[in-house]
Amino acid sequence: MKVLKFGGTSVGSVENMTNVKNIINDGEKKIVVLSAMSGTTNQLVAIGQDIEAGNSAAAVEKVTTLHETYKVTVDNLLQNGDLNASVKAYVANVFSFLESCASKTFCVNLENQIVAQGELLSTYMFNAFLNQEGVSSTLLPALDFMRIDENKEPDIAYIKENFKKVFEATPDSEIYITQGFICLDTEDQISNLQRGGSDYTATIIGAAFLAEEVQIWTDIDGMHNNDPRHVENTHPISNLSFDEAAELAYFGAKILHPQTVTPVRADNIPVRLKNTMEPSAHGTLISSVTAGDGIKAIAAKDGITAIKIKSARMLQAHGFLKKVFEIFETYKTSIDMITTSEVAVSLTIDDDSNLEPILAELDKIATIEVDKNQSIVCLVGHEVVNHDDTFRLFKILQDVKIRMISYGGSQNNISLLIDSKDKINTLQKLNTYLFELVTP
Ligand code: ASP
Ligand code: MG
Repeated sequence: MKVLKFGGTSVGSVENMTNVKNIINDGEKKIVVLSAMSGTTNQLVAIGQDIEAGNSAAAVEKVTTLHETYKVTVDNLLQNGDLNASVKAYVANVFSFLESCASKTFCVNLENQIVAQGELLSTYMFNAFLNQEGVSSTLLPALDFMRIDENKEPDIAYIKENFKKVFEATPDSEIYITQGFICLDTEDQISNLQRGGSDYTATIIGAAFLAEEVQIWTDIDGMHNNDPRHVENTHPISNLSFDEAAELAYFGAKILHPQTVTPVRADNIPVRLKNTMEPSAHGTLISSVTAGDGIKAIAAKDGITAIKIKSARMLQAHGFLKKVFEIFETYKTSIDMITTSEVAVSLTIDDDSNLEPILAELDKIATIEVDKNQSIVCLVGHEVVNHDDTFRLFKILQDVKIRMISYGGSQNNISLLIDSKDKINTLQKLNTYLFELVTP
């Protein structure tokens, strides 16, 4: 059995939902994971922010506007009178809950309940739509089986056991629909798998029952060799290994949640990226197979902070790096890139929520320099560090100011740290010279 996940755009209009229906309605039993309709989660986040800022009137206004758009969508989607009425009642219930949130005291728990409504709405509506169209489908509530542990990692044993229970309760259905993104935490409170987490839901479910394949359906024809939002002439990559895909997703390829391949790689479950608007396009197949050597794709991750830690105490001394790492460990902040010299170590973090206390601690043992607004540009490909063409990289970048470089940390990745203002130019240059093979 396969797991198919459809993103926000795929469920963002009646036309696209009809495309989804046509894709999934092929007589095969399957699990369908849905995101919220496009734009909804952003709106829900904004409503939470208004409440946090004490601006409940602005929150109520956003709730009302969003409710109106949902009423129109339901009318366009459901001509069947009974289904239309029951879905409208469900939707009205969700929005009166959201309205009631506007006068509550803000806390993480409230925010999590608010952002969860997007997936609850989309799945409810889509399930009713399938019923109207005569497709046999069942809604499996994700909150009945999806849970994270104290480290915010999926609790796979719990998910396996509980998914099996809910799934086996309705054995005759053809299509099982569930919410992406949302889950419970260890205290049984509503939580989520972070923005873009529906991809992760799909592979977690895929791993929980050893699916034949996981498909991630979006509005683009697979993972591209460079960021198509910033760079011209990019093209989809037809095959990626799990390692390559994991590096790309982590280092900024927005098409996938960073953890997407983690649950499935050990069991070798392939992940196929497909385009809902163009179902016949090949897309990208992520599997254990490695196709070709050399630089295959480039991705960039913004919002990086670089910290240079300089100390004469580092010279021929041991234990200095341990002290540095312990400070980051204390504040549960993970380090992405690192380079060292005799008397200095430079490293990068993307989560700067504890930057102040980290710097205060580092300041006790070294001289610190901080650069914000940096971007990691990551070049990915099997054995990229050993490939003949890789030397071109340095020629191409002779006029880009590189703050740090990481070469050989893995065979499949070369990372450069640059100022974010140089990002688009760097990506475009790399694209032109590396992929179009124009001599610089
Ligand atoms: N709806 C959530 C988001 O916008 C999860 C997802 O779409 O994957 O982040
Ligand atoms: Mg996504």
